Amino acid sequence: MVNGVNLLARIEGTRTPDLVMVVSAHYDHEGIKGGEIYNGADDNASGVAGLLAVAEAFKAHPPEHTVILAALDGEESGLQGARAFVAAPPVPLAAIALNVNFDMISKNAKGELYASGGGPQPFLQPILQGLAAKAPVTLKLGHDTDAEGKSNNWTMQSDQGAFAAKGVSWVYFGVEDHAEYHKPTDDFATIPQDFFLKAVATVVEATRLLDGQLSGIAKAAGR
Ligand SMILES: [Zn+2]
Repeated sequence: MVNGVNLLARIEGTRTPDLVMVVSAHYDHEGIKGGEIYNGADDNASGVAGLLAVAEAFKAHPPEHTVILAALDGEESGLQGARAFVAAPPVPLAAIALNVNFDMISKNAKGELYASGGGPQPFLQPILQGLAAKAPVTLKLGHDTDAEGKSNNWTMQSDQGAFAAKGVSWVYFGVEDHAEYHKPTDDFATIPQDFFLKAVATVVEATRLLDGQLSGIAKAAGR
C-alpha cells in the first residue's frame, strides 16, 4: 500500500464564486525502474508547468468563477489521485462545472496539440473551435469518441476520466504518443521548447475562455 498526495490550490471567482472549474495535471510518473530514472518531462512535467502557468495567469487577472488547481498523484497507477478527488471533493461535486486536464502537452512531430471533449459534449465544441482558430499551436479536436476506434478514444486515458465517470464535464489537452512515451528518454533534452511554450500559451488561453463560458457550460450540462 502506497499513499499518494494531491496538491490543491484555490483562486476565488470574482463574479460567480459558487461555480467551480477544476484545472488538473498529474505530477506522478514511473519512478525508477531497472535502475533507470523516468523523469517524465512530457508525461507530465509539461502538464504541471501548464497548470502553474494557469495559476500565474489567474492570480494576475482573477477568474470570474472559482478555479481549483489540482496537481494530482497516482495517475499512472489508474487515475488514483483523480478518483480520490472526485470521491471526496473539496467543494460539492454539483458545484464543479468543468474539469480541464493537461497530460503531455510538450511534444509532437507535427506540432499538433489535441483538445478532447467536444465530441461527446457538443456544447463545448464551439468554444474549442474558437480556441483552435486563434491558438498558437495547431489545435486539433477529437480523440473523444469510439468512432475513431476504441483505443483512440482518450476519455478514460487520463485524469479527466474520473470526472467523466462522475458526470462532470471535461476537456483534455494532450499530444499523441511519441517515441519517448514512458521511456527514460522522456527528459528535458527531448522537449521541443518552441512547441512547448506555444502549447502552454494555448492552455492558458483555453482556461480563460472556458472560465468566461462556465455558466453556460454548467447550464448546457444540466448542472
Ligand atoms: Zn500522463
